[in-house]
Formats: sequence, structure tokens, C-alpha cells
Amino acid sequence: MSPKTNIRPPGHILALKPYVPGKPIEELKRELGLRSIIKLASNENPYGMSSKACEAAKEVLQKSSRYPEGSGFVLKKALAEHLSVSPETLVLGNGSNEVLELIARTFVMPNDEVIFWQYAFAVYPLLVQAVSAKAVIIPIHNWAYDLTPALSAITPKTRLIFIANPNNPTGYALSGKALLSFIKAVPSHIPIVIDEAYHEYQIQKDYQTALPWIQKNPNLIVTRTFSKAYGLAGFRVGYSVSDGKIAGFLNCIRQPFNVNTVAQAAALAALEDQTFVQDSVEKNTQERDAVCKALESLKLSFIPSTANFVAIDFKQPAYPIYQALLREGVIVRPLQNYAMPHHLRVTIGSRKENDRFIKALKKILLGPVTK
Ligand SMILES: *Cc1c(COP(=O)(O)O)cnc(C)c1O
Repeated sequence: MSPKTNIRPPGHILALKPYVPGKPIEELKRELGLRSIIKLASNENPYGMSSKACEAAKEVLQKSSRYPEGSGFVLKKALAEHLSVSPETLVLGNGSNEVLELIARTFVMPNDEVIFWQYAFAVYPLLVQAVSAKAVIIPIHNWAYDLTPALSAITPKTRLIFIANPNNPTGYALSGKALLSFIKAVPSHIPIVIDEAYHEYQIQKDYQTALPWIQKNPNLIVTRTFSKAYGLAGFRVGYSVSDGKIAGFLNCIRQPFNVNTVAQAAALAALEDQTFVQDSVEKNTQERDAVCKALESLKLSFIPSTANFVAIDFKQPAYPIYQALLREGVIVRPLQNYAMPHHLRVTIGSRKENDRFIKALKKILLGPVTK
């Protein structure tokens, strides 16, 4: 049935374009009738989740006839200990995306300005548009954040700054030193979100989490997630750490039961299994190196990444290559909605998945090997 309603939302809502997620495995199965498909499109953990998290989730399923623990008391207590912060500084979200949305709704009014960088995580522009604010986008050169132009872009209307460290889809990470000097230069009445979705994967020496800086810079809000290294993307659990007062505001506009019982239990058990996380991170580093070497041997350029994905530059429209990979049963992420039409973003998978991806790529780029 075609829509018949004459109801129209306000202009800023009409202008919204939906977030385009990675193609689901089941969808490609339906479309192409392929049996074996690998998905390297959404930066999920290829090793799944901690078996302890899975067990914990199963155990509490029965309890789901009751409302969840609304304040997330137990999970927050464990997180607080893990991060050496106090529970009052934490806000739990249905994925860190929800926390990002809470932040925008809490601080930004229509026509206010929000600063972020070109090629930033696609969720930021959506959130800004949804609150009818103006996105102030700082240009990027060589995939690196230029921090000085962002300082010059601050006006009396600036209400929020988003920085993903490292960024998705580029994989670029700022040094702790550069980030801290930027933070210190921003007026203290402007909240700065440091999105650390890939924090666990950062092993390079010059990386620093922004967490310990909150004390001296109470305009900082650090967000993290259980979706990536912890392998709980389907459970939807993320959180922010900030000054207690800011956390209080966010908790006020948060839906009372935004993180469900099963997700809370899974996250708690996942947090307690740091061995699983470390193991995943180690394998990711090895496999990322291996994938990058294979790309080099195919003479392909890519953006150096500190995360669990890499953006490959094909120097030509990449969408046909994306489609050809789909026909090989390999789902990766096209980036034309990031205005990066020559790139594809590939999640680092398991050894087997990466081998299959590289093999498919070779076949597409060099043609099938014939005798
Ligand atoms: C994946 C990702 C998130 C996390 O999303 P969740 O809602 O926690 O699953 C946040 N920020 C960036 C930059 C990401 O890539």
C-alpha cells in the first residue's frame, strides 16, 4: 500500500537520510542464493563473544518477564571498578550510538553549531540534523585530523564537538599529545565527545585514552562500546564516562530501561573476561598486518589503520568491486555515503575469512587464474 497520509514532519526531519548499515548475511543469502557468506562490513569481532557472556545471557533470559535493572547498578559498578572511575560518572546506552544521541539532545538546540571532521562517523551528521542544528565540518588532509582549523571554527553558537579516536571509516588515530593540547584549547563550556569505540584495539605507543583527562577537563565525554572488541554488537550496550553532573543530565533524558536485562548480564560477563578481549586484539593486530601485506602485494593503497578495519583506495569507483565481492559471498562496506567512492572499508576477520576476501579480491582485480 502506498502511503496516503498528508502528515509532514518539520523540514529538518524531512531532510534526514537513514543510516545505511552493512548488508546483513541473510539478505545476501536471499538475493543470491549463496550458501557460504562472510561479512566483513560492520567491524564486529570475528571471534564472536566470550563464551561466559553467552552463558550469562542465557541464564537471565527467564528473568526477562521483569523490567531490567533501570540504573544498571551492577554493570555500572563493575565498569566503574574496571575503569577506576566512580559509578556516578557513567551512563549506559543501547549501544554507544544511543549515548551519542543523548548527548546531542541534551546540549544542542535548533540552529546551534556542532563541529566534527570530514569523513567522520556517519552517525554524527544524522544526530546533528535530527536536532535541527548546523554541522560545521572541518576538512581533512591525508586522512589526518587537523585540529587548529577546528579551533578557528568555534563560534558563540558552538555547542558540541565530536571526535572519534580512532575515526571510522578511516582508521586514523590521533596521538594523545595532539588530542590533549586540542582539548585544553577548547573553551570549557563546550562539551567534547571523544568516541573511543575502538579503544581496546589501540596498542600504538602514542595513543592515549581521554578518560584520565576528564578530571581536569570536565567538558569531556568519553564514549565506549561493547559492540567491537567485546563482540556484543547484537546486544547493544555502550556507555559514556564524564563529569558526574553531565552524566546526571544524560541520565535524566535517557529512557528508564534503555539497556535490557539480557544485554546487561552479557556485558557484565564480557567485562570480566578480559582474556577474550586481549586475545581478540592480538589476533586482530596480526591479521591486520597480514591483510595489509596482501593488499600491498596487490599494489593497492589503503589508509593506515589502528582499528579492526582498513579502508582500501582502489583509485577508481569502488562500488562495482563491492558488488563483485558480493557475488563471491564477501560482504564489505562501500563508502560513497562518506563521499569516499573510491574506497571500500573491510573489517579484519579471522585468518580464514581474510584469506577468502583476499582470494576473491585477486580474482576480481586480476581475473580468474586459467591454465
Ligand atoms: C561502531 C562505532 C560505534 C559504536 O556503536 P554501538 O552503538 O556502540 O554499536 C561508535 N562510534 C564509532 C566511531 C563506531 O565505529
